[in-house]
Amino acid sequence: MYPANKKICLVMLLFSAVFLLPALGLSETLKEKLQTASKVRVDNLRSTIVSLEQFKERSSHAKQNQAVSWVNDEFKKMGIDSWIETYESNGRTWYNGFARIKGQKKPSEMIMVIAHIDSITNQPELGAPGADDNGSGIAALLECARIIKGIPLEKSVQFCIFTNEERGLKGSKAFVQKAKNERLNIQAVINIDALGYDLKITPISWQYIRSNQSLKYKARSAYRITRNILSGITERKNLLLVAGRPQDASLVKIAAGNIREFSELSTREVITSDCG
Ligand SMILES: [Zn+2]
Repeated sequence: MYPANKKICLVMLLFSAVFLLPALGLSETLKEKLQTASKVRVDNLRSTIVSLEQFKERSSHAKQNQAVSWVNDEFKKMGIDSWIETYESNGRTWYNGFARIKGQKKPSEMIMVIAHIDSITNQPELGAPGADDNGSGIAALLECARIIKGIPLEKSVQFCIFTNEERGLKGSKAFVQKAKNERLNIQAVINIDALGYDLKITPISWQYIRSNQSLKYKARSAYRITRNILSGITERKNLLLVAGRPQDASLVKIAAGNIREFSELSTREVITSDCG
């Protein structure tokens, strides 16, 4: 919900390409090619975040669908096969966006890279630009697509832009149902969410405390502010959490290792059954 700033872009540097390496099962030759040929462009990341911010909010039905259409056009501009699928919720038709880079040897085996596009706020009067959560994830996803589209891949990579994540994961649940029905061969899912969040930036939370909200709400805000400030002191800068379920521990380990190898980011590996 915070506006774009320099840190968002800096923290995402090199993230997207590196994150995919383990899931794609790239050979050393391809890894070297990716290392030399692919450079994350910070201006691309910034441009995507600013464009998404300009929707003012991506919470309403109209704006969520418009934002999905915008991302789909971005895929098309890059020459990547993209399409929109719909699902029904609360009597309305919602979009999910998709794009696919087809694998050359095993095209039916898919690696999914997903990000939600909707935003949410507790202060509607401020809008919900959603630069961090999750304009940053969409920016990384698009940059990832741009970088790997020219690299011969063994398996297919499918990019998914989900709506209504903040309201019960409705978009992704609709897709999961479809994936089950169609028995899609999904081998790994990488969810990109809220990159570049500066734990020490809390101006909006302070506004919560000064607002006319309930005491319970203010107490919760105070707790969050304290936690964020303490985390900001104790955590290293530019730390990326790489999280996964216990059965995906090896993927988490390899992904975190690659991020450390290819970027200056620190990583913290989190294995928890909370990852759905
Ligand atoms: Zn999010």
